[in-house]
Amino acid sequence: MSERSPEPAAFECRPACGACCVAPSIAPTFPALPEGKPPGVPCPHLTRDFRCTLWGRPERPSFCGSLKPDPEMCGDSREYALSWLSDLEEKTRP
Ligand code: SF4
Ligand code: SF4
Repeated sequence: MSERSPEPAAFECRPACGACCVAPSIAPTFPALPEGKPPGVPCPHLTRDFRCTLWGRPERPSFCGSLKPDPEMCGDSREYALSWLSDLEEKTRP
């Protein structure tokens, strides 16, 4: 009988980070972001304590749902994540 190794725990979003609501650009999305969001600018739906006011609502851009917490992206600090996401933004700019 073989033993299965336990599934690795899912990586969770860090409280009070919000880096992925600041660093990336977001294409125009109606009705939430009709003009899109430039890189490096906090999303207008991000609260001062880094929560999303559209969380769980259909207006939340699909981009946001597609960005999953990941150790490589999130690292161990907000500063790391901002830097990593800014680098990605730079590399993927059209
Ligand atoms: S960068 Fe990662 S830890 Fe920070 S808000 Fe986004 S998903 Fe959460
Ligand atoms: S809509 Fe919410 S999840 Fe998406 S960037 Fe804005 S604050 Fe972040």
